[in-house]
Amino acid sequence: MVSAHEYDEAVQRYIRDIEDDLRKVSMSIHDRPEVGWEEYHAHKVLTDFMDKQDGFKVTRHAYDLETAWSAVFTSSAAENAKQVPTIGFNSEMDALKGLGHACGHNLIAIAGCASAVATARALEEFSLPGRVILLGTPAEEGGGGKAIMLERDAYKGMDACLMLHPGGGQDGKHGAGVITSNCISGIKATFHGVSSHAGATPELAVNALDAAFVAYSAISALRQQLAPGTKVHGIITGSDEWSPNEPIVIPSKATMLYGLRTESSFTLADLIPRVLRCFEGAATATGCSLELEREHLYLELRQSGPLAKEFAAAAARCWHSDDGESYHVEMHAKTGASTDFGNVSYHVPALHPMFNLPEAGPKDQPHAASYAKTTALPSSHEATLRASTALALTALKVLTSKDLRDEMYKAWKEDLKAIDAEHAIERLHKVLPEKQGARGKSSDHDHEDGHFGCQH
Ligand SMILES: [Zn+2]
Ligand SMILES: [Zn+2]
Repeated sequence: MVSAHEYDEAVQRYIRDIEDDLRKVSMSIHDRPEVGWEEYHAHKVLTDFMDKQDGFKVTRHAYDLETAWSAVFTSSAAENAKQVPTIGFNSEMDALKGLGHACGHNLIAIAGCASAVATARALEEFSLPGRVILLGTPAEEGGGGKAIMLERDAYKGMDACLMLHPGGGQDGKHGAGVITSNCISGIKATFHGVSSHAGATPELAVNALDAAFVAYSAISALRQQLAPGTKVHGIITGSDEWSPNEPIVIPSKATMLYGLRTESSFTLADLIPRVLRCFEGAATATGCSLELEREHLYLELRQSGPLAKEFAAAAARCWHSDDGESYHVEMHAKTGASTDFGNVSYHVPALHPMFNLPEAGPKDQPHAASYAKTTALPSSHEATLRASTALALTALKVLTSKDLRDEMYKAWKEDLKAIDAEHAIERLHKVLPEKQGARGKSSDHDHEDGHFGCQH
């Protein structure tokens, strides 16, 4: 019987073996930031890296998505087994327009690689049966890459799915938090009017920008009546017709991109019709026609309690802060942000801790411009390796302990029942506008119905 200490020592060693290569991969992605669906460089360096790891079978451009990929490892001891315990990991890759890697997905990318490689090596060294699936998941910042991959069966057969995300700083200490996130629905509202000369013949125009203005105001007024924790935020984008130098043409088109957030999918279904009425009212008031489309739908994270305990225990065994204090995992943290990994957590028991970046200042949070600098620091790299070590040890426990798998499934089923997940999803699909066509080059996926997510 292998002791936890032997696994701890081995996993730390495997990650140290590849830490310099991981640093190069992380910085290469960091220095060439790419927005969602355009992560071509990240796709290349990550798949090249995984191709060099013993036993991993790499698929590039997976699931009909140009920048998605997978790397799958099956241990020698699992070759003739009927049922192979399987763990999933995720590597995000996309950056934010104009801000670079201000969400630290360069660190998430290598955390996925580090955890997957260390888990695979342990399976081989200790002759354990198991499978590791690492997914390269595009477009987390709004495109819903994981939601699409989920519909295309990328997460099929996993007993549990894990990933990491960097967070803020905690007094310079290493550590992590197990967060709940918000549920978000992206809505695109396009107003169509009639353009005309703003000075000579304004009476002939139907002003689409006015419609956007009225909708913006209506939503702003609605906010006072919204429950605490509800957020409605958006932008107005123009069309090519908008005069770049002078406002001489009354706009015939205006598009509003909105995010509607609540703490749960159940309450999101109540919010959506109230916001849609603001768009509809603005169209009526101005005489514009209105086109409504749903964009991404990210469900709130359902974190697995049993997996969180394993992660915290592994981190505490392996790591201490520089002052000797043990690695602290805050078990009930909260964020108003959202992730497409929430959809995965409705599908399979899941864990998504956010680890501290020791040198992040108080205002140095994901999506702040300063955060892109922090995600390149050596201390942030070290924080990623420590959290990845704990994540790989969590994975090993899932793969080697039927008791943990049973406990995890039981907790997950009870959790989904407690939030009435099935009914909540049904309600959401009733109130959401139609979606756009499926992303990807094959027509084989026309049957997709937006189950737990939608097409961008
Ligand atoms: Zn982000
Ligand atoms: Zn992020």
